[in-house]
Amino acid sequence: MAIPGKNLHPRSIALIIATISALTFFAIVYLATGQISLAGLGTGIMFAITYFSVHFFVQEYLYRKIRLLYKFISQTKASKREEFYYENLLPRQTLDDAREDVEKWAEENKAAFDLLEKNEQYRKEFLQNLSHELKTPIFAMQGYVESLLNGGLQDEKINRRFLENTLRNIDRLRNLVEDLDEITKLESGQQPLALTSFVIQDMVKEVYESLQIKAAEKNMTMEIKKGSETPVRVSADREKIRQVVVNLVDNGIKYGKVNGRITASIEKTDHEHILFEITDNGSGIAQEHLPRIFERFYRTDLARSRKVGGSGLGLAICKHIIEAHGETIHVRSQEDVGTTFGFRLKRG
Ligand code: ADP
Repeated sequence: MAIPGKNLHPRSIALIIATISALTFFAIVYLATGQISLAGLGTGIMFAITYFSVHFFVQEYLYRKIRLLYKFISQTKASKREEFYYENLLPRQTLDDAREDVEKWAEENKAAFDLLEKNEQYRKEFLQNLSHELKTPIFAMQGYVESLLNGGLQDEKINRRFLENTLRNIDRLRNLVEDLDEITKLESGQQPLALTSFVIQDMVKEVYESLQIKAAEKNMTMEIKKGSETPVRVSADREKIRQVVVNLVDNGIKYGKVNGRITASIEKTDHEHILFEITDNGSGIAQEHLPRIFERFYRTDLARSRKVGGSGLGLAICKHIIEAHGETIHVRSQEDVGTTFGFRLKRG
């Protein structure tokens, strides 16, 4: 009898074991008694008992257990197709096949668990950061209002200043809420891009104008690099790219030095793209911080201690917007020399 290969069906297993036992039984009885008919009869009975008991055992215990395992790992009530699989195909699988299936299942689940764990960690960090960001202005406002109520209101030297400080903290809270709203919308993909064709230099000039007063406070110059003045059309979401440029120029001012300079450069890299960069000659960013500055709420120690920072969400928002355009935002920086942020845009 040809022994089947890997895919032993319960019937084949029973047949092999029953044949081996029956032949052994026949040899022993025949050698012991020399009666071929007795040995033949005993062998027939032996074959039948062994065949049915092995078949019953394998079918009932082994495959039923494996079937249960399969049902458990697929965690569903078996559909008609699955029932067919369990009844007809599964018994033809070897235990090695079953082990492979279970290993595959475990691997898939591990990846899902890892992702869940990572998301949970991310969520915890986000909430921690958020409560910290909320606490700082709220406690500051509480302090000012309490001081005013405890007599400060009548003190001409401090009452106005305390109210102005309170207003500054309200502004900070409002910025935080607006940025949170923006990042939530971007992450949920609620805002499809509204692509238009526009001249990038015009948009940069608009941004410079809107931040002129802030730059003037530090006597900073904002310019378009020599050689980048020829108008170039790009195809992008104008409002969103404007938001990115506002964030980058605003950072250039916040972390720039007095009398410093912010430069926008536009370079045609190939027939389809331009490279847009904003450079400042400010404080720069230490190398160890560079890989993390696009994370939500991440700030360098310098930004924390100086208290010039905004919500800490600005660069995370920029990253989202540029990635929604199918590009990546990059940064290079050197401490005390300056920083350059850049990204490509499609020519339009
Ligand atoms: P923030 O609201 O604090 O400015 P951002 O997300 O815009 O947050 O920036 C993250 C951090 O990256 C900043 O807190 C600051 O430490 C650093 N950073 C960003 N832009 C610059 C820059 N032009 N020069 C130096 N540091 C910068």
